[in-house]
Amino acid sequence: MKVLVVNCGSSSIKYQLFEMNDESVLAKGLVERIGLEGSVLTHEPTGKSKTVINADIKNHTIGIGLVLEALVDANHGVIASMSEIDAIGHRGVHAGEKFSDSVLVTPSVISAIEECSEMAPLHNPPNISGINACSELMPGVPQVAVFDTAFHQTMPKKAYMYALPYEAYEKYGIRRYGFHGTSHKYVSERVAEIMGRDANNLKIITCHLGNGSSVAAIENGKCIDTSMGFTPLEGLVMGTRCGNIDPAIIPFLMKKENMTMEQIDTYINKKSGVLGISGVSSDFRDIEKAAAGGNERAQLALDMFIYEVVKYIGSYAAAMNGVDAIVFTAGVGENAIGMREDITSGVEYLGTKIDKEKNNVRGKEREISVDGSKVKVFVIPTNEELVIARDTKKICIK
Ligand code: ADP
Repeated sequence: MKVLVVNCGSSSIKYQLFEMNDESVLAKGLVERIGLEGSVLTHEPTGKSKTVINADIKNHTIGIGLVLEALVDANHGVIASMSEIDAIGHRGVHAGEKFSDSVLVTPSVISAIEECSEMAPLHNPPNISGINACSELMPGVPQVAVFDTAFHQTMPKKAYMYALPYEAYEKYGIRRYGFHGTSHKYVSERVAEIMGRDANNLKIITCHLGNGSSVAAIENGKCIDTSMGFTPLEGLVMGTRCGNIDPAIIPFLMKKENMTMEQIDTYINKKSGVLGISGVSSDFRDIEKAAAGGNERAQLALDMFIYEVVKYIGSYAAAMNGVDAIVFTAGVGENAIGMREDITSGVEYLGTKIDKEKNNVRGKEREISVDGSKVKVFVIPTNEELVIARDTKKICIK
């Protein structure tokens, strides 16, 4: 069975074609700058050389059309015909309270995604464009939507409610939803597998640290709390997002700086985080370099980021009354050796002890705690695409 995994952003499409018999990736690639000048498709067939196709890609349908052409191309293609694609899995971002699992796409599922668009204006509309483009170009091929919010739907009410008047929840669905669910699910299941333990009998804290970052507490296989909230802005200090701040700062700043709603939104989402603190970059590699060169604000940005992760690990260990394993994943979690060391040494009181030699690793699956560490610590590269492909297969061959 072959599954095409599609992740549509507002101006991009990421894709991977899986052979599900052995879960191998036949090809992957990226369409960028959709609707803009200089739009381009970069296609990477496994075992063949990468091709870059420059074209006028006005919308998602044209983009997906090009992807399909690339997949069946005589030179850089990997399948003989489009009919070999048995199913399509879409990365969905926000499903509100509507779905706690992946679903087969039907007209009512599309309406449900549309209804949640107000809460994810940057993500849900391109998602629907991607689904419509696939229906147009591959009629009859089943499509599955796998949502970022779904894994977090197991949170108890005390963890997902905000202490606003209850009507805010009833009227507008204002509550914590959580994001990066597919990643937290993948690494938490994988760590149980590596430990040779039943996930239903483990307390795990997963740290998805990238440009966008979130931490999740997973008890007996179920997410019981996570740091992102109503939107992916809450929680940790991120690349350009402020994370937790006193909400009173918003009206205060709007008044002082005469800001509009759009301006404050850009301020907290795009100009804050480690970029705003350091004034250097949103990329942790640039910040680490600047800090090593003596830039104090870059060092402060790193210190703040690490401090927040340490606090979340501590609070989730408290929420679960213990922790068996901590997992690091995503760009920073998988690669930033020094930050992992600083974070884990901040929670040594829990019984974590990492081995510096073992921690000297980037982008590879590995236990990095010393033998006998009470709390085990792992680096596990995330694989959201594989979760989407597996869920798609599961739903389509029912
Ligand atoms: P996104 O949220 O965009 O999916 P990623 O998970 O790809 O983000 O993470 C991107 C971040 O990972 C970048 O900010 C980059 O600084 C960071 N990163 C990648 N490699 C390293 C590294 N070797 N050391 C520190 N940070 C790294």
